[in-house]
Amino acid sequence: MNTPVLDIKNLSVGYHTQRGRLKALRNVSFAIPQNSIVGIVGESGCGKSTLISAIIRLLAGNAEIGSGQILFKNDDLLAKTENQMRALRGVDLSMVFQDPMRTHNPVLTIGRQMTDIQYRDQLTKAQKKERAAEMLSLVGIPDAAERLNQYPHEFSGGMRQRIAIAMALMARPSLLIADEPTTALDATLEVQIIKRLRELQSEIGCSILFISHHLGVIAELCDYVVVMYAGEVIEQGPVREVFHTPAHPYTSALLRCDPGNIREKTRNLPTIPGEIPDLVDLPAGCVFQSRCAQAVDSCVTARPEFRNVAGGHSAACHLLGEEVPA
Ligand code: SF4
Repeated sequence: MNTPVLDIKNLSVGYHTQRGRLKALRNVSFAIPQNSIVGIVGESGCGKSTLISAIIRLLAGNAEIGSGQILFKNDDLLAKTENQMRALRGVDLSMVFQDPMRTHNPVLTIGRQMTDIQYRDQLTKAQKKERAAEMLSLVGIPDAAERLNQYPHEFSGGMRQRIAIAMALMARPSLLIADEPTTALDATLEVQIIKRLRELQSEIGCSILFISHHLGVIAELCDYVVVMYAGEVIEQGPVREVFHTPAHPYTSALLRCDPGNIREKTRNLPTIPGEIPDLVDLPAGCVFQSRCAQAVDSCVTARPEFRNVAGGHSAACHLLGEEVPA
């Protein structure tokens, strides 16, 4: 089997707070195979943001990595110096965020910004401009060469997000981390951007870690999905398997609450009753126990181990069969 582009092993991250250590991520493990798109889903507070920040090493000052490895092309990012990380970010490890204005400098033209980010390349200014225009065309910006002279505010939100994607892919990274990149867009634009992202991914041959709370987008775009709850991975596998035959009660509940799965007219969208547990004072047993309608006695006392469901599909729930071998 090919080495995964990213292989996260038993990652635990905490934050020092006045109330004590907030255990934001606990023993998170999953891999992103080469040339594939992996989606991460879960409610707010599930640990998605901490996970991204840990990968790109932009964690808050009060964060502490307790254990684990983040292997990027077999090289542990946690062992790298800040300079080594800086050299990776935006080059072999790129990011796109929800708000493209965070990516663009409002006082510089898009052309200037797109040529500036090629500062490592031995190309003339004209060649860099040409590459920038090519990349803009690739993400579907019409009249790309002329539009290089425009400022971010002269583009619509959807176009700004496409430009952010173009900039993130300019260096042909091995891994693109896309954090809710389509959440602020309307449904039509979202579909267009997802389609383009999928095409670019196969054209460039990179992998993508795609974070979204929109299950329809994950189903449309991703090959694999990782479901997180309260700082833990609770289910993962090929996206079709997980979404068609969810093995964990939390994944089933998420799918039931997805507006795309609601067939009858309703004024009230369903929600999962209850709240995520206090990450400073976690319960013994399963982290989902207080909200789980299927909880049994052992759920209160014993933490469920990851168990095989089918090829590559596994979940952590006492109701499942055999444990996944380490
Ligand atoms: Fe529910 Fe128990 Fe499974 Fe947790 S381990 S999801 S509480 S049945």
